[in-house]
Formats: sequence, C-alpha cells, structure tokens
Amino acid sequence: KTRVYKFGNNFADGNSKMKNLLGGKGANLAEMSAIGIPVPPGFTITTEVCTEYNLLGKDKVVDLIKTEIEEAIFNIESLMGSKFGDKDNPLLISVRSGARVSMPGMMDTVLNLGLNDDVIIGLATKTGNERFAWDSYRRFIQMYGDVVLGMKSESKEDIDPFEEIMEHLKDKRGIKLDTEFSVQDLKDLVYDFKDAVKKRTGHDFPTDPWEQLWGAVIAVFNSWNGDRAVYYRNMHGYPADWGTAVNVQAMVYGNMGDNSGTGVCFTRDAGTGEDVFNGEYLINAQGEDVVAGTRTPQQITKLGSLRWAELAKVEEAERAENYPSLEELMPEIFKELNGYQEKLEKHYKDMQDMEFTMQDGKLWILQTRNGKRTGAAMVKIAMDMFKQSLISEKEALLRIEPSKLDELLHPVFDPKALKKANVIAQGLPASPGAATGQLVFFADEANKYKYTILTRIETSPEDLEGMNIARGILTARGGMTSHAAVVARGMGKCCISGAGALTINYKTRTLKVDGKEYHEGDWISLNGSTGNIIEGKVATSEPELSGEFAEIMKLSDKYATMQVRTNADTPKDAKIARSFGAQGIGLTRTEHMFFEVDRIKAMREMILADTVKGRKHALEDLLPMQRSDFEGIFEAMQGLPVTVRLLDPPLHEFVPHQLETQRSLAEDMHITLEAVKIKVAELEEFNPMLGHRGCRLGITYPEITEMQTRAVIEAALNLKEKGIVAKPEIMVPLVGTLAEFESQEAVIRETANKVFEERNDRIEFLIGTMIEIPRAALIANKIAKYADFFSFGTNDLTQMAFGYSRDDAGKFLPIYIEKGILKVDPFEVLDQEGVGQLVEMATQLGRSEKPNLKVGICGEHGGDPSSVEFCYRTGLNYVSCSPYRVPIARLASAQAAI
Ligand code: PEP
Ligand code: MG
Repeated sequence: KTRVYKFGNNFADGNSKMKNLLGGKGANLAEMSAIGIPVPPGFTITTEVCTEYNLLGKDKVVDLIKTEIEEAIFNIESLMGSKFGDKDNPLLISVRSGARVSMPGMMDTVLNLGLNDDVIIGLATKTGNERFAWDSYRRFIQMYGDVVLGMKSESKEDIDPFEEIMEHLKDKRGIKLDTEFSVQDLKDLVYDFKDAVKKRTGHDFPTDPWEQLWGAVIAVFNSWNGDRAVYYRNMHGYPADWGTAVNVQAMVYGNMGDNSGTGVCFTRDAGTGEDVFNGEYLINAQGEDVVAGTRTPQQITKLGSLRWAELAKVEEAERAENYPSLEELMPEIFKELNGYQEKLEKHYKDMQDMEFTMQDGKLWILQTRNGKRTGAAMVKIAMDMFKQSLISEKEALLRIEPSKLDELLHPVFDPKALKKANVIAQGLPASPGAATGQLVFFADEANKYKYTILTRIETSPEDLEGMNIARGILTARGGMTSHAAVVARGMGKCCISGAGALTINYKTRTLKVDGKEYHEGDWISLNGSTGNIIEGKVATSEPELSGEFAEIMKLSDKYATMQVRTNADTPKDAKIARSFGAQGIGLTRTEHMFFEVDRIKAMREMILADTVKGRKHALEDLLPMQRSDFEGIFEAMQGLPVTVRLLDPPLHEFVPHQLETQRSLAEDMHITLEAVKIKVAELEEFNPMLGHRGCRLGITYPEITEMQTRAVIEAALNLKEKGIVAKPEIMVPLVGTLAEFESQEAVIRETANKVFEERNDRIEFLIGTMIEIPRAALIANKIAKYADFFSFGTNDLTQMAFGYSRDDAGKFLPIYIEKGILKVDPFEVLDQEGVGQLVEMATQLGRSEKPNLKVGICGEHGGDPSSVEFCYRTGLNYVSCSPYRVPIARLASAQAAI
C-alpha cells in the first residue's frame, strides 16, 4: 500500500476526500495543488503510518517508509531545483502534523529543517542574504529544540530557554527587537543554542538532515499521544486510533526582505460571519510571527485596515504610513490572493481560513481549511451561502453545529449596566460575547474561582485546558489570528486579544493599565464584541437573536418531524421556552415549586405532620400556591400540552438540617425541638436516589397526589373560564410495577371527577407515566394498556441501568472518561448501546399495545444533539429539554430528519 502521497506543481496523488488517510491539512494541500493553487511541493505521510508506529515502534516504521520518503524528497528537489542537505543549493523543508480534524496547537511546526553548519553557508550565498540565513538557522534550532528535543522548561514561570538566551543577549547589546540582532549576534545565538541543547539533553544537536527529518517525523507521531492532543481529543470525543498524518513541504520564505511576507486570511469574517475577505500579514516575517503577536500585524484589505485603525485609534496618516494594507502596498499580489480566496471558497463551498507566504514577490498558498467561527458567524455564513446559491437549504441546516447555537442564546452585557461601565482599555474583539470574572494569570489556575478571566501576555497551546475553563480570555499581545483568538472563537468563548495597553506581570500576578494595578482575584469584564475591557462586574441581559437565527429556526421547523418541548417549572421559564419555539412542556417538576422560602415552610409542616388530618391541613396551604403556578404556566403555553409530574424527590430534601431552622420550625408548629429532630432522623435515608421518592410518596400519602391533581384541574378550569385552553398531562414518576401506576391513576381520576362535579364543568386531560426504572421498560406493554403516554426519564434510567448513583457519579465518572472506560458521560449523552435499548424496547412494547401511544423523553438527554437524533430514529413524538436548549434540539431534530 501507499504510505506517502506526493503533491506539487498542479499535481497530487491524493485529494480532499481523503481526510481520514491524509489528515485535513494533507488532503487540502493535495486538493489545492490539483486545482492549480500554488502550494509549495511536498508529501504527506498517512495517518495509518502513525498507527503503525504506535504498534511497531520507530525502527520498523522507518524501514516501512524509507524508500517512499526518499523518492518523495527527490520529487520536491526536482520541482524546486535544489537539493536536501546540499551545501551549494540547499532544499529546506517544513514538517507539520495534520490530524483528520484541525486540532489547533496540537504540535508545533518545525521549519527550516535541513540546516547545519555547512548548509547554512550555501543558503547565505544562494539568497545573498546572510542575515536571513543565520536568522533561519537560529529559528530552526530553537523550534527543533523545543518541539523535537523537548527543550521547553517545565516550570510555568520560566520562559523558553532559548528565549532566555536571546533576552540575555538583547540586554547585553542594549537592543529590544529580534530584528536588531547583527549577523554576528545570530551566529553567537546559534552557538549558544547548540550549547544549551547539549547541556540539557546530553547530545549534540543533530547535523545530518536525514536524521533531523526522522526526528521530526517521529516527534509528530508522538505528539498525537501528548497531553495537549489527548486533552483536545477527549474534549471533542475523537478516538485515539485516528492518528495524525505528517506533512513535509519545501520551505518558502516570507522573511527574505521587503518583497517578502506572510499572512493569514479568511474568506469571510469569522467573528460576525460578514461576507468580507479579511486577514492579517507582516512584511519580512515567517508564519509564527503573525500568530505570536510580537509585531502588530497589518490588514489584508484596505477596508479592514481602516476598521482596524478606528478600533486601535490610529490616525489615518500614521496608518497609511506604517500599517498599510496589502491591497495598498502590493496591489498585484493582493489581486492574485483575492482570486485564490474566491476560487477556494467556491471550491470548498465554505468559509476558508488560509495561510500564505510571499517569497521575493512570488505568492504561495501554504494551507486552507474550513475556518473556525463563532456561533453567530456559523449561522450567518450558512444562511448567506444558501442565499448566494452556494449551498442548498438542507446543506445550510446541516452546516449548523447544534451545540454551538448555545453561544447565541446566552446573556450579553446589559446595555444599561454597560453605559455606566468603566472601560479601562481596549483590545481587539477577537471572539464575541460577554464575560465577567476574577483575574487569573495562569491557565492551570483557571478554576481558582467560580468565574475567571484568564489573562496572559499571549496564550499557547498548553493553555488550552485553562482557556476552556475560564469565562473569558484576555491577552496583551497578538492579533485577530493569534492563538488565543482562533482557539477562543472555536470554543465560542469571549476573548479580547492584543490589548497593548496592559502590562502583565506573572511574578507579581498583576495587571497594570494606565498606572492602575489590578491583582489576581480582582473582578474584570470583557466585551468580546467591541474589545472593551471593563473594571469590575457588569450585569448581563438576554441576547437579541439575529434575523439569520430566526431563518435557521424556521427552516428547522420545515424539516423537523419530531417535536421539541421544554422542561419548565415556572411561568417565566415557560415563556422563555415559548420564545425559543417550544411546542409544549414535557416536564414540570412540581417539587421545584416548593423551594421558595414562604412555600418551604408549608411543605415542611406537611412532611412533619403525624396524622393524615395534620397533613391535609398543611396541603390546604400548598394548594393555592400550586394552582396559581399552574395557571401561570398554562397561560404561558396558550393551549400547548403541559406535562405536570407528581411530587418526586425524597422528602428529607425538604426538612431542615440546621439546628436554627429546626428550632424555628418547632416554634411555628407548636411542637418540641425534639419532635422535629426525631422526624428528621426518621426521614434520613441510606440511598435517597433509590429511596422514598417518586410514586412511592403518592402511594404512601395519597393526599399529596389528591392535592396536586386538584391544583392542576382547578387551574385548567379557571383558565377555561377566561377563554384559555389548557391541556394538562398528569405524569406519575418512578413507576416500576403496573399496580403502582394503577393506584395513582385511580387517585387522580377520582380527584379530577370530584373537581368536575364541584365545578360542574370539565376539561380534557391525560394520565401517563415516566419510564425511568428498567422494570417499567420491561413491562411497558402492560403499562401502556392504562397509561395515555410515556415519557422517558433517562436520568434515572441511566442511573439504574448503569447502577451509577446520580448523586455520586461525579466522583468516578471523570476518571472513567480519562481512562477511556467510558467515552462520554452517560448522564450527558444518552448511552445508545445500553440505555438506548431500554428506550427502544419500551417504545416498541408500548406501541404494540397502543399503536398511537404518545412517547417522549424528558431526561437531560433531550437537549443533546446526538441523543435527539437517537430519539428521532426510535420514533419518539417529542424531546423535552431546558428552555435554552430548545433551539438546539429543534435544529438537531431537523438534521435528524434530513
Ligand atoms: C429523569 O429521571 O430523567 C427525569 C427527568 O426526572 P428527574 O431528573 O427529576 O429524576
Ligand atoms: Mg427521574
């Protein structure tokens, strides 16, 4: 089989469909080369070789691919007219990882590979630029040292050992910038760098280009199992056996003088989705200079440059002089680049994120990929591309990642609070949204407070985990394409980058701006949409949804056949869910209505009552409260079905456990403190999740079921008088035997009939059950004979199918996931293999008895896209989820049906 795929000069062995084999980057390089985009020639070692390496080890794998690699290098040599390791006319190469999906920063790149003390002379002569040659050499040793030889320091407060050597030399020379080093300085650096390598690793820096190449290839393979990659993989659920490909390409240089440069560009705006070509570049620089943020990048287009200047408060004369756009500075190259970006977007039919380099006036495209984007941009781009006839309606829907809609649905800063806000500085609006949190300066401390703002000079791939935890990310350096910006946008996390006015001191853990100092733990707020950095906490408010969002939702409803309801316990939640398009309520947890202060007292009296009479007395107090809640909810839902579940949780959750509260309760109830204590002790359970809860409560205390039923029916009748239709569906929780359901059903019917008689009026209502105990799933046909509907309580069903206590799983599930025992948390993503079987079976059994049985799901899984898809396949009538997840579920339901 072929293990090495070549590309270059309008030819390629592979193509873009071979992502699994060639990785995303390799597949795209092949495709680009084939369609006539000028990519530097090279080759891709397949992901399968990575897997072979993991099995066989280095030596065997080198044997397997040696001949193919030699041939591929020879191919590059002939296309570039130079020779790998040659003194006079050297070919230098880059080595990069490339998994089938983009994993930012999984492994750094090694550039300029092939240099040694002989080759450097050739490079200097060939380019006629000694400074450039030695600068390339020192960069190579630094990168190779860090990436391949593991030179990076362990301590987070220390900087890279090579940076330290450079800082030292800068001090000595009294200079500030890398560009101020003389040729002799660079030669000294190369010498010192090699010395540092020898000291730390005990080996000489490898001088044989082939040895360098093999070292880099193996390092890429190893990086697949490095901490960062494993974390990223786990975060996204990517399996370990995917492996990474290795891309080797001829080097082209953006740092060969003022006719060279390098940049990153996007075919549309990755933050807002606006259809404008945009990006950043630097003259006389290499790729990492643009993302590292050590120099201020310039904009590609004139429009972008003007917008940037406005944000950065740079005067027009200053802008035109020092920060001209590529469009202004090199109109010919810009025209060519603009042509390629149009071609690539049309070809891939998606927003592209491209990297390019100009070497001595010749433009090379280094890579293209579907660009990461914010949730808002995702929605806008999909709808715009549909309107531009680039993609179909269905494709537009499938372009939306349901879980990413989440970003659009969360609060933004309250405009009123924002008016009063004290803006202390401004950076680039790298990733929109609002974030308030306490300052932390190290990624591994991002969980130090509940809400944190991770503040760094610049971020690097090691910070990934902390960035994920933090509420927002703030960096002092770096442009819109810096690591922080790109990663934050991918995560949908608010981020401000390149806030140059900030002085960050890691040692003292402080942030200084305009003479004022802020310390770790101080509150700060970020407006990722404007770049404003605000002192203190700022209140947030509900988001405004864009027109495109509404269009996507409308399209979703056009294709979705399975309905989406919501889990809501209050009229307020019900209203929010309605505004998001919920088609009913799938679960009202009535116990949540009792948690308010004035209500819990009545509830406690009810629980502590010793006699039925005493209990009924307390329930009389609760009745009007429940009734008015139901009226509010029914009214909010305007005739849509509302599933009301009878009291579910263990009673001890309601009793006071603190002495103070016990004492005041005893006073209120005119009983002794002792009596309260005894009752509390009586209610204590060893295993509350499997204890006296669910219908077990209604069966031991039927008067509770009576009161709740009365509240539901009376509320519905009251609304009927006002001309509002209410469609209650009363649901019995935690049923495991038929008799349990029958007993509760009888109480409900009797009570309802009593109310109908009293009021001399009636309404339609249903009585159904939750299927959340495995035994209920097993006898679902029997239950269906009596129940009007089923609703899967997959929280409990998961608990009981796995035998993982919901209350205790947090202690071991993270370890299970880390060790790969479980791929994902089964309480978040429905376990289709096991729990799913129970759902399927119960649905089939239920419908075998009652073909039109209404079946839904109201466990947490109702808002998880993959679980929604499963529910669709299983033939459920609806899923029900929390209000903010309703749009996600609507889209997922549509996608399942497409
Ligand atoms: C369930 O068990 O899935 C459910 C919806 O009920 P609760 O989470 O209230 O137990
Ligand atoms: Mg439950």
